[in-house]
Amino acid sequence: MSAYRCPDLLVGGRWRPAAGEARVAIVDPATGETLDELALCSAADLQEALDAAGPAFEAWRQVPAHERCLRLERGVARIVGEADRIARLLTQEQGKPLAEARAECLMAADLIKWYAEEARRTYGRIVPARQPGTRMDVLKVPVGPVAAFSPWNFPLVLSARKLGGALAAGCPIVLKAAEETPASVAAMVACLADELPPGVIQLVYGVPAEVSQALVTSPVIRKVSFTGSVPVGRHLAQLAGRHLKRITLELGGHAPVIVCEDADLDRAVRQLVTHKFRNAGQACLAPTRFFVARRRYGAFLEAFTEAARGLKLGPGLQASTQMGPVANARRRTAVQDLVARSIACGARKLSGDAGLPTQGFFVAPTILADVPLHAPAMQEEPFGPVACLLPFDRLDEAIAMANGNAYGLAGYLYTDSARAMLQVSERLEVGSLAINGIGVSVPEAPFGGVKDSGHGSESGCEGIEAFLETRFNHHAA
Ligand code: NAD
Repeated sequence: MSAYRCPDLLVGGRWRPAAGEARVAIVDPATGETLDELALCSAADLQEALDAAGPAFEAWRQVPAHERCLRLERGVARIVGEADRIARLLTQEQGKPLAEARAECLMAADLIKWYAEEARRTYGRIVPARQPGTRMDVLKVPVGPVAAFSPWNFPLVLSARKLGGALAAGCPIVLKAAEETPASVAAMVACLADELPPGVIQLVYGVPAEVSQALVTSPVIRKVSFTGSVPVGRHLAQLAGRHLKRITLELGGHAPVIVCEDADLDRAVRQLVTHKFRNAGQACLAPTRFFVARRRYGAFLEAFTEAARGLKLGPGLQASTQMGPVANARRRTAVQDLVARSIACGARKLSGDAGLPTQGFFVAPTILADVPLHAPAMQEEPFGPVACLLPFDRLDEAIAMANGNAYGLAGYLYTDSARAMLQVSERLEVGSLAINGIGVSVPEAPFGGVKDSGHGSESGCEGIEAFLETRFNHHAA
């Protein structure tokens, strides 16, 4: 195994050790062994980052969009060039199979590239003047220094969504990435930082609540962006509200899948098994509640369970592995607890734990059939390899069941019926819907949730808009 080393902080353009005393162990989820210890930042480190963000904003906002684009593209080329090394770090600290880690790294590069190109299209507009010889124009200007918080499940992609948008728009960014997966994000950030003025990109790791308190309440920070859980999102929204900061929140999902009677079952099973168990199910857009037309329910259940049972579990660095461990011990405990509580409510567990690797934090792909709507697994985000299935008789009923929990991020529909497509696309309460496919998140389209899944969008032109302010200029004669 190649050497793993925890990163320093990047503050004011310099990589340097954290000044704090506290350390957290970074654990390999495939073995449970400690890889290294991450030093956490102090209050003084955060103050230094805030002090650097103001001057960095002055410098970066004056770099023309064309030049910002070129610099970011050079950083992206380095990320692509280093994808193998970055992916290895990601697999070591997070557990996902190496091929998934590499794909995530390339997706992160693609996201930043798209934002970089979009920087050149942050158009304003001219409004027809009321008096001769006067002019009215509307400009898009960068909002200012950004505080961003990204989680451990897709550390590269979810950091890239924030880095790309902020930097392309002309904003400096202080990123607190997840303490569980620090090295992969630091390696990606290093590729970008060399191309940017000092302080434009800063990376800190610390006690999450202390970092967000210091950054969100500082007058230097003008925009907050968070991806993570609903309780933390609520807390940050309150903090941002009190200090009148703009905030974008992506708080997870519990995605419904509607499989109609006319669906291509082979295609649905093949796509959904891959998509469900990617990253051991720790994905906010993972399909989780499967509502299947009653006449196809038995066939779907059988094919889906068989395909899930066939997945090869193992350490992410092993080439044959199709599903790795979950990211940490608390996630494994949480998933096992959710499954047990749902079985107690009447769900039928169709898959077993036989053959699970004995080391590390492995959870078997778990299929729960006939799950009552009030069962915990139908309401709480499993954030693990758990699929809940239930039959339906009428499409109306399926849509009502799909809308029957607090989340609204992604949704999936399998049908050939134009009427079903129209009904579901109009009535399903989600931010993204994939029809006969799984592509709910691409760099050029907005990604965001409704209801408890958060508000605001990342990616697409909406993603860069979140880091821009609108300014009106009225030029008198
Ligand atoms: P958690 O709520 O403890 O942490 C989630 C993320 O928020 C972590 O990256 C953490 O560092 C950060 N965080 C925690 N407190 C914070 C604070 N006060 N200020 C700023 N950041 C803070 O959850 P967890 O145990 O890591 O994961 C549990 C649940 O979180 C999952 O079941 C899932 O529902 C949700 N989650 C969602 C996403 C997503 O993609 N939307 C990603 C990770 C976790």
